[in-house]
Amino acid sequence: MAISEAPATSFYQASLRQFDTAANLLRLPEELRLILRMPKRELTVNFPVRMDDGRVEMFTGYRVQHNMNCGPAKGGIRYAPDADIDEVRALAMLMTWKCAVVGIPYGGAKGGVRVDRRLLSKGELERLTRRYATEISLIIGPDLDIPAPDVNTDAQIMAWIMDTLSMHYGRNVPGIVTGKPIAIGGSQGRFEATGRGVSIVAREVAKHIGIKFEGATVVVQGFGNVGAITARLLHDMGCRVIALSDIYGAIANPNGIDVALAQKYVKEHGRLAGLPGSTVISNMQLLETPCDILVPAATEGQITFENAERIQAKLIVEGANGPTTPEADLILQRRGITVVPDILANAGGVTVSYFEWIQGRENFFWTERRVNEQLEEMMIESISRVLKKSDELNVPLRMGAYVVAISRVAEATEFRGIYP
Ligand code: GLU
Repeated sequence: MAISEAPATSFYQASLRQFDTAANLLRLPEELRLILRMPKRELTVNFPVRMDDGRVEMFTGYRVQHNMNCGPAKGGIRYAPDADIDEVRALAMLMTWKCAVVGIPYGGAKGGVRVDRRLLSKGELERLTRRYATEISLIIGPDLDIPAPDVNTDAQIMAWIMDTLSMHYGRNVPGIVTGKPIAIGGSQGRFEATGRGVSIVAREVAKHIGIKFEGATVVVQGFGNVGAITARLLHDMGCRVIALSDIYGAIANPNGIDVALAQKYVKEHGRLAGLPGSTVISNMQLLETPCDILVPAATEGQITFENAERIQAKLIVEGANGPTTPEADLILQRRGITVVPDILANAGGVTVSYFEWIQGRENFFWTERRVNEQLEEMMIESISRVLKKSDELNVPLRMGAYVVAISRVAEATEFRGIYP
């Protein structure tokens, strides 16, 4: 079970290390390891965008397809100033395991553009998106690779991608992305799906390990789509949300934060700091706040070798992708803190993306209630499968989830064989 103690130097190496540990547990044959460790296809694109002031600026984007043995590749596109091939590669691999752990017929992919979205006007954002979509159109398609929102991308950006490729094809291709606005073939419940999934996982695993869910204290890092919706739903389910953070800083209120009010405050003021009744704390203090449930829902590499010793949560539910490094994982495990891994905890988003894709293919759209019920059923089933596997092998939930996921992809790979 040992992962070497030396810190992995990159996110991709860290993801490979998790894979190798699970592959050892599974006694995965060497040739399957070779195949599953590597991304199938990687595209890097450099492209010009005309800025509002008339200048041309060059941008770099990526799309990586890790594995497509279980179906077309699936995964979001993020816009971030530090996006790079290593990060996108790691995230594409995580998508393969995520889709497999919930048993949806997709492989894994991810895209990224190196850009600070906050510095672009709406027109620049649209032109950048349409050009990036054109550049990656070589390898995406409704039966090939289906992007979706991720960090700093949203339904509007998906609409531009869908429209751009529809213009190229001369007909509508709504199935080319998910997370679209409802008006053009999006699904009810998709916007909330990731946070809804995270809150279901938090509730089920809390129950399983004996945390009283009603009144449980919750800390959420990140107030984007995943963090804000998870915090709101956990609050609505009766938990006490005692600290929150966004990119500008963190706030705490031991008596509990009214998350709907916090959302309203952020809409008006652009940030959480200053929310009446709360005090400003640092991001480090936020992560180290004593609580029942900690939800890191910001970005990767937040719980590390440096701070894992000081985390005082009973349960960590990974809303973000890759928030815990492998070294931190070992420390948390030794300290008896349960960690629900990203590939299970935040799989609600891609699960409802799958529902959206099915609804689009059938041109029959479900009610929000049906979407939420089906999501809940699939999440609960996946959680119990992972809990059972972890119990059976006596390993942490991350390894249980990896073993479930890798077994599925390995089985598909074996059945398909090697061409030629
Ligand atoms: N970006 C989300 C994730 O990391 C959703 C991906 C999707 O819906 O394809 O899971």
